[in-house]
Amino acid sequence: MSKQTGPVSLPQELLDFYDGLLVIQQKYLAKIRELNLFSVPEQWVWDKTNPLVSSIKPVTDPVLARELFNQLLELLTCYKPVWADSIKKLEGMTEKDFSDLIVSFLEGDRESVGGIISRLDIQPEVAEFAIFQTVKPFLRTYAEAANLNIDTANWLENFCPVCGNKAKIAVIRGEEGKRYLRCSHCETEWLYKLLACPNCGNDDHQTLSFLLIEETPGYRLDVCEVCKSYLKTIDARAGLKPNMDTSEIQTIYLDIIAHERGYSNRAVNA
Ligand SMILES: [Zn+2]
Ligand SMILES: [Zn+2]
Repeated sequence: MSKQTGPVSLPQELLDFYDGLLVIQQKYLAKIRELNLFSVPEQWVWDKTNPLVSSIKPVTDPVLARELFNQLLELLTCYKPVWADSIKKLEGMTEKDFSDLIVSFLEGDRESVGGIISRLDIQPEVAEFAIFQTVKPFLRTYAEAANLNIDTANWLENFCPVCGNKAKIAVIRGEEGKRYLRCSHCETEWLYKLLACPNCGNDDHQTLSFLLIEETPGYRLDVCEVCKSYLKTIDARAGLKPNMDTSEIQTIYLDIIAHERGYSNRAVNA
């Protein structure tokens, strides 16, 4: 069975999986917000050069993180039976390995993440998905606390001013049509040039273009012919009021169209 979401028909099972993921994420986001884990010290002043993560580290609550991780593994068990072996190994991880994995991931230490995953003989794709989805709500609350101290409107870099990661989606807002990149990890939005590729910096309009999707006005792909990357873009000026919490999932059809045409997005995980 499949369902039409945009011009591409997606299997119902995939949509159910993403619905389940969203329910877990939202539930834990609410719990994590209640903990008030983060605050930026009053005397801290942003240097406007480095993302916040380089001076103030995000933290997680180990108990809540493991609980969230286990729920994700249950969901994966239902929908990804081909991952069963790796899921079992992830379930059986010691507290030490789990906490090392989370901390290394949060600090962007890809080498340590890779080392732990390979020592435990877990498929990297499975481990990275589960870890990424576990840290995401923690990073979001970290960003919510940090955004008060960070001038996201004047950042203009291709990486997030809070956590240093890249964007998977952009939104165009306001009468002047400004483009904001939205972080794939912590959901911070920051201003970026309207005509430039956030992946390679190319700003030659002859090699930048849009793929407009007729069936879903307001939703498009911005593509760069230099690095063959794409960015999903929502033009909110078209009277759209996108729910940004669900927009990444609702626009999976754009990822499929982009991949079919030979473009990729370098932001980690989907
Ligand atoms: Zn971020
Ligand atoms: Zn590019």
